[in-house]
Amino acid sequence: MEYIKKRIRDVVDFPQKGVVFKDLTTVFKDPRALHIIGWDLSQIYRDKGVTKVVGIESRGFIGGSILAFELGAGFVPARKPGKLPADTIKVTYNKEYGTDTIEMHRDAITPDDIVVIHDDVLATGGTMAAAFELVKSMNPKKIYVNFIIELSALGGREHLPADVEVTSLITY
Ligand code: AMP
Repeated sequence: MEYIKKRIRDVVDFPQKGVVFKDLTTVFKDPRALHIIGWDLSQIYRDKGVTKVVGIESRGFIGGSILAFELGAGFVPARKPGKLPADTIKVTYNKEYGTDTIEMHRDAITPDDIVVIHDDVLATGGTMAAAFELVKSMNPKKIYVNFIIELSALGGREHLPADVEVTSLITY
């Protein structure tokens, strides 16, 4: 994990003052780091029968696709409003300033599915809580939640039900 940690770039005051942004592009561009991420994420779910990985737009698409590929599962995008072409369901949630909405295709998940929802970074947890609500409304058998990085001081886990398995590769 040190190999990955060394390649995470901290960008101060992005996208606004006071935020230290964990930039993973410097991890993804390194072939060995990308390989390690795919392997380490997939090891967590190897024996869990996962059928779909949901990636949250947009940085969650990268790790989510790799994880789906490694597990032999399908990939499903959770997107910003107006991007998905077919019939969607949506959840609007509160952010620090204003609200945001995420959408999924109504037929993306079925009751037979075992799902991992993936995003790159867990910060305040609002985005993942909204994605969780969307996926849950489609009644899959089981939902796991996964991040590459968790910023534990922001308490994001508290926005998710206590019985959900939340796993992060790296915790700060
Ligand atoms: P959250 O506050 O958990 O709802 O995070 C909102 C989105 O912004 C998530 O998709 C995170 O990937 C991203 N994000 C929030 N804070 C950071 C940060 N410090 N570094 C990198 N990404 C972040």
